[in-house]
Amino acid sequence: MIDSNNQLLAVKGRIFDIQKFSVHDGPGIRTIVFLKGCILRCRWCCNPESQSYEPETMLQNGKKKTIGYDATVGEVIGTVVKDMPYYRRSGGGITLSGGECMCQPDFSTALLEVSRDYGLSTAIETTCAVEWATVERFIPLVDTFLMDVKHMDSAKHREYTTVPNELILENAKRLSKLAKRLVVRVPVIPGFNDTPKELHDIAEFAYDTLGVDEMHILPYHRLGYDKYIGLGRSYGMGDVPPPEKPKMEFLRNVCASTGISCYIGG
Ligand code: SF4
Repeated sequence: MIDSNNQLLAVKGRIFDIQKFSVHDGPGIRTIVFLKGCILRCRWCCNPESQSYEPETMLQNGKKKTIGYDATVGEVIGTVVKDMPYYRRSGGGITLSGGECMCQPDFSTALLEVSRDYGLSTAIETTCAVEWATVERFIPLVDTFLMDVKHMDSAKHREYTTVPNELILENAKRLSKLAKRLVVRVPVIPGFNDTPKELHDIAEFAYDTLGVDEMHILPYHRLGYDKYIGLGRSYGMGDVPPPEKPKMEFLRNVCASTGISCYIGG
């Protein structure tokens, strides 16, 4: 056990941030570990610095900052467990985000396994746009899958994220039968998926096909704008404003009409 743990602690991954005291991405108080690398290129992505696996230089407040560094599981868990009393009191733990943590499966699964050895609750934010054999590795290690289902139409999904949705929907079906807990998340993006029909179709898929009873709809925001500028990239959403509260309430009710419990936010 100690030998195997030592091996797990030495596994290296590439991350770009660790955020403490999150209350949005899984139960209780959590530490979020952000991994580098993603398969999709969503136009609205608020973490563009996560997309490339390679470290990048980003201008932040006029200063150059290198985004992305390599760390071992031991180094990351050493930071995470400092907040153990908060996790114990709140039922919280660790959430892997990104980027896409399934792009670094050896590191992610090792970190999750060690986290479980510490008694932490484990969650991941994922799109599951990877081969099933990779998704399967995460199932015994994850208490809560927060899975994005962004659109039911593959052509539109591809247009806005560069990737079709067939593999994602197929993995969602398989995962729903095996995951300890699966929550479907939908970023509500103006012009992409913000009509009642588009949201209803996703809610119906989640509730009727997947048998999932909880769904989160997350309003588009523009907080990533400065990062695109800092990376020397153009912002893919132009001047599109975020959806207003009454619209989000309306869409929440549309989703809830399928029978699913739908919440605004994480
Ligand atoms: S899946 Fe998430 S991290 Fe990846 S590009 Fe889309 S919004 Fe960004």
